[in-house]
Amino acid sequence: MAGAGDETKFRPPGFATLAVHAGASPDPTTGARNVPIYQTTSYVFDSVDHAASLFNLQTFGYIYSRLGNPTVSALEEKVSALEGGRGAVAAASGHAAQLLAFYVLMDPGSNFVAAKNLYGGSITQFTHTFKKFDWNVRFVDPTKPEEFEAAIDGDTRALFCENLANPGGIVVDIERVSAIAKKAGIPLIVDSTMATPYLWRPFEHGADIVIHSMTKFLSGHGTAMGGIVVESGRFDWAQNDKFASLTQPDPAYHGLTFYETFGDFGFSTKARAVALRDLGPTLAPMNAFLILTGIETLPLRIQRHVANATAVAEWLEKHPAVAWVSHAGLKSSPFHALAKKYMPKGPGGSVFTIGLKGGFKAGVAAVEGVELFSHLANIGDTRSLIIHPASTTHRQLTEAQQIAAGAGPDVLRLSIGIEDIDDIIADLDQALAHGLNRAAE
Ligand SMILES: *Cc1c(COP(=O)(O)O)cnc(C)c1O
Repeated sequence: MAGAGDETKFRPPGFATLAVHAGASPDPTTGARNVPIYQTTSYVFDSVDHAASLFNLQTFGYIYSRLGNPTVSALEEKVSALEGGRGAVAAASGHAAQLLAFYVLMDPGSNFVAAKNLYGGSITQFTHTFKKFDWNVRFVDPTKPEEFEAAIDGDTRALFCENLANPGGIVVDIERVSAIAKKAGIPLIVDSTMATPYLWRPFEHGADIVIHSMTKFLSGHGTAMGGIVVESGRFDWAQNDKFASLTQPDPAYHGLTFYETFGDFGFSTKARAVALRDLGPTLAPMNAFLILTGIETLPLRIQRHVANATAVAEWLEKHPAVAWVSHAGLKSSPFHALAKKYMPKGPGGSVFTIGLKGGFKAGVAAVEGVELFSHLANIGDTRSLIIHPASTTHRQLTEAQQIAAGAGPDVLRLSIGIEDIDDIIADLDQALAHGLNRAAE
């Protein structure tokens, strides 16, 4: 530990140090201290032999920016270090990252079991768009881990959940879900977008693959879309015959076997060399640069986000216009104990939902009444954000479906920013008064 003689020499850097330095050493050619934006599509080969070894994946290097780019690589290394992972592949968005991960695992006719409490876009992607590849999803209640087990059959290739689920403040006991995945010989994929590696590192609790929408807290400023898939490096892909794309020779790489050749980073190498190469949802170097810059202040921002969100949640719980508050940091939350166990540095995060006594009318009036908050469909910005799902993101659903998704007519979703807490509360107070008056009309 710190100051304990020899051990200090080998002490791994702390999280905040990694957030600033991991993946971001000075540019070897120019000495530029910050990671340059390598705004180039392609890279000159030293020779025909060099080119051949790059194309054969015998030498690591850059060929064409659809597959890899130095600015993007720096970001991949940084996020992998923050998660304690072995390798990572960045993508153009969180949804693109999900596509890459499942492309490696699935075959036509296979299935995966996913939590039903997910970001709405993920439910649509899994239900309708993945269906066109004949990848089938089975949704279960993630607060009852045994439901994952009951839904697994011989064609199941993965379990998927959000550890801190959006919306609704649900905390999933991923150690229990991971034990079920291990027993079945399949990986647990965790979408950790809402928690971020600062609050929760899923690999330390049995997850095998972590996915982020970097669009949210990692970029942190609402400036860039991005996604990433990180692998722990600890999953044994050869323990059964389910993962042929990793354990059998790949015809798209003249017979290369990814797991045998790349071992503990075989999954991410396949996700890059085949899924990213052939599907093409590449992260732009400019966006990688913006996200790299955002991550440098991740610990500071998240501390402030959570402190503000917890104060707002406690204040809202006592507000006369508010029926309930679903923030896992509150003692009243059924997920409070799990939140404290898995997110000791900031139980519950900074995105949560509340229910208004005035129902739909009050919800619409509140989002129309805010001045400091922005009424929009994003989370994880420095700015405080608000949305009334029933009139926007979830408006295509029936009321029963809205309620099942945690987005009933009375629900507001808040993403609390890093402004002064007094200003955040004052704005919500006047907006809720606006809603109360409107509901009384
Ligand atoms: C936003 C989000 C996604 C999708 O990410 P995009 O970057 O918008 O494609 C996936 N999961 C969660 C939890 C999200 O919040």
